[in-house]
Amino acid sequence: MFSFRNGSRGENINKKTFLIQLYVDGIGVTNPIGPKKDQHKLTVIYFTLEDIPELFRSILQCINLVTICYTKYLNDDTKIKKIYEPIINDLNDLQSTGLIINTFNSQILFTFTNVAGDNLALHELGGFQQSFNSGYICRRCLITYGNRLIPLTDIYFIQRTEAQHQRVLKSLENNPQVKSIFGVSGPSALNDLHNFNSTLSLPADCMHDFFEGVCPLIIMAMLKEASRSRLITFGAIQTRTENFVYGELDGSNKPPSIQVKHLTNERITGTAAQKYCLFRLFPIIFSDIVEHLELFKIYLVLRELLDMILAVPQRKSWIPYMETLSINFQSMMIEMLPEKIITKIHFVTEYTRVIEENGPPVKYWCMRFEGAHLYFKKVAMQSYNFKNIPKTRAKRYQLRQCFLLSKEKFLRTFDEGSGGRMVYMNQIESKIKNLLNRRYGQQVTDSNQALMQYSQLIHNHIIYKQNAVYVYDLAHVEEIPLFFQIIYILKLNHQWLFIVDFLNTESFISKLWSYKVSSSGRLEIISPFDLQFYHKGLDLYEVNHIHVVNLASRLTKEN
Ligand SMILES: [Zn+2]
Repeated sequence: MFSFRNGSRGENINKKTFLIQLYVDGIGVTNPIGPKKDQHKLTVIYFTLEDIPELFRSILQCINLVTICYTKYLNDDTKIKKIYEPIINDLNDLQSTGLIINTFNSQILFTFTNVAGDNLALHELGGFQQSFNSGYICRRCLITYGNRLIPLTDIYFIQRTEAQHQRVLKSLENNPQVKSIFGVSGPSALNDLHNFNSTLSLPADCMHDFFEGVCPLIIMAMLKEASRSRLITFGAIQTRTENFVYGELDGSNKPPSIQVKHLTNERITGTAAQKYCLFRLFPIIFSDIVEHLELFKIYLVLRELLDMILAVPQRKSWIPYMETLSINFQSMMIEMLPEKIITKIHFVTEYTRVIEENGPPVKYWCMRFEGAHLYFKKVAMQSYNFKNIPKTRAKRYQLRQCFLLSKEKFLRTFDEGSGGRMVYMNQIESKIKNLLNRRYGQQVTDSNQALMQYSQLIHNHIIYKQNAVYVYDLAHVEEIPLFFQIIYILKLNHQWLFIVDFLNTESFISKLWSYKVSSSGRLEIISPFDLQFYHKGLDLYEVNHIHVVNLASRLTKEN
């Protein structure tokens, strides 16, 4: 499964249409701590086209502003209708008549797919209750807050369906004195949008459910257990997280250290990406203690599940196993951490269904929009202009968008080297010279020609770094990743080339959730154009004198 088109909902759509996705979120303009108590709070909606090739998808230019308004205006039905009506009309037009582009002499049609957002925003938009600690807490099923403590081995929750949802809406309409039924408080603001359905079009978001929810919760619980069992003190945890050396690629999401006060307040600070980085590298940072932790068993189940959830592509055949992992995770939580059963624990168990319906969650998660949204927040904070905030912000954003779209690099592939220096053939090690000899002939290496050496190349929007590790293939039925490490990035006669060391994948070490690798000493020349899959660079870490690579998601071949 690669996209929405491979899920059950995508199978029935017109294959010749482009997919449109919305994203909704709130911004606090005057209160840097959070939007909750901010009277200038804004609600912002963006759209993106899902069919833009994967390489470009998270690039800011592909995320466009739809609307921006004061959140306080969205407090009664007529105002909400006023805001959403033009959006619904436009989207319905795009879905029925589409765009006529004379140059192509054709009509381009669109299909609305999903709205991405955090759980609160989506419940608000879908007409569901906005409290997650009482009553019917889920927009996908009929679980109640009290029932979340029953292991999934013993209970099955009835799924919400469109028909059932419509019946509830009818009852609400007939009984205006009733505030909500089954956690439904009224029709969605998007009810008139074609292809929108409250129970299906508001899928789960793994950034909020995992990175901001369950992952930091498990990290904190493990650290507390470690301290209780006298494996490590709070002070030592702080020192360790302060001093851990993150790899160059992980370094861009380097989490802040976990200070003693954070452990006392049970709070992991940082952005979603930083919290995920900490979760992913936890077994490496605390390699000496993880084995002694009871709760590490929960980590391993959650990690295996999350690796599969974050994968693109995914295999339909994984789904039954993911279901088992979800049930195990929830049952273990109830047994070992009953006081930590937050609503997100339940949401985590529903990803198999969400994936079956919508395809890989990474295609509709909030992470994609975070970049654009962060820019917006920054502009909002920095301009100190509180007169008609939505208008000034929208104008700034649109002007910037015009500028970015006018630049030549938009949706183009380009090569950009950095950290470059000139080297001469006679300065190059003989081993590498031999390689160049074999590829380009003796005359190139004999000539003492100059060539450029770089520490980084951005090719097709992918970062290639010297010393970083890349997956070049998957071996056997088990799909064991095969890695190489980039030793040098060179440019010779206008051609980019990597000198790489093919690594031996020796074993998978469960307790580090990482592959143990070693150098094969076999150097090769590779062109960036040779690499077709698995473009994400990885850092090499050393734990007890062995080298390990920690993958961010499960990989599978595209066939
Ligand atoms: Zn549910």
